[in-house]
Amino acid sequence: MSVLEIRDLQVSVKLPEGELKPILAGVTLTVRSGETHAIMGPNGSGKSTLAYSIAGHPKYEITGGTVTLDGQDVLAMAVDERARAGLFLAMQYPVEVPGVSVANFLRTAKTAIDGEAPKLRTWGADLKGAMERLGMDPAFAQRNVNEGFSGGEKKRHEIVQLELLRPKIAILDETDSGLDVDALRVVSEGVNRVKETTGIGTLLITHYTRILRYIKPDFVHVFVAGKIVEEGGPELAEKLEAEGYERYVTGAAA
Ligand code: ADP
Ligand code: MG
Ligand code: MG
Repeated sequence: MSVLEIRDLQVSVKLPEGELKPILAGVTLTVRSGETHAIMGPNGSGKSTLAYSIAGHPKYEITGGTVTLDGQDVLAMAVDERARAGLFLAMQYPVEVPGVSVANFLRTAKTAIDGEAPKLRTWGADLKGAMERLGMDPAFAQRNVNEGFSGGEKKRHEIVQLELLRPKIAILDETDSGLDVDALRVVSEGVNRVKETTGIGTLLITHYTRILRYIKPDFVHVFVAGKIVEEGGPELAEKLEAEGYERYVTGAAA
């Protein structure tokens, strides 16, 4: 049983000139093992900023609040420590890693997170199985990470990582964006499978309600202008689908 606790988190993005632009205006959220939380909000509301801040991206400066995982201060950890502690981020725009094959990347990540290399005897089959379940041709194992991958292939690869690395808490940043219906179904099934087999807690960040037909959220948080403005159960997603974000945005501006 794990718990990620975000308390009054305030974050600014570091601009190239060295100035700080405030983005997160006090976010409070608790994610426990086995729970799926959907964060839904319009573009530019700070959803990716929240994801990156928890993962430890250097572009962001924490100006207030706390983040803990099972009582441990996440914000004091280096990026690799956060991953070893059990946090996983599937990025909205997965980055290319030239010169590093998918097979090497996954094995290196698995070794770093577990503190020992995976057993050769089982690892090959684990990797092949995870790729097959995500509908990735085994030939991808020899390709460089994300280089020339389509949008859908990048997202499938993110979920292959999720399956193999077995984190405690996963943050999925717009894993649904740019996916056709078939890819969306395969990726969602992957997330559901990991949830059923390992009981992870999931923070599912999305702009659209479409993915919530495949991945059922326990809690829905509406995110506007750097903060949560409404919370509820799955029915809130249905309301958003019908009404959009308009009234929240108007309310925020008023
Ligand atoms: P979302 O993921 O909800 O679309 P983001 O977290 O990506 O939102 O962005 C939040 C806000 O931060 C946006 O207004 C965006 O323009 C701003 N922002 C992010 N990076 C920078 C940057 N380098 N310079 C200026 N503004 C930025
Ligand atoms: Mg965006
Ligand atoms: Mg984003």
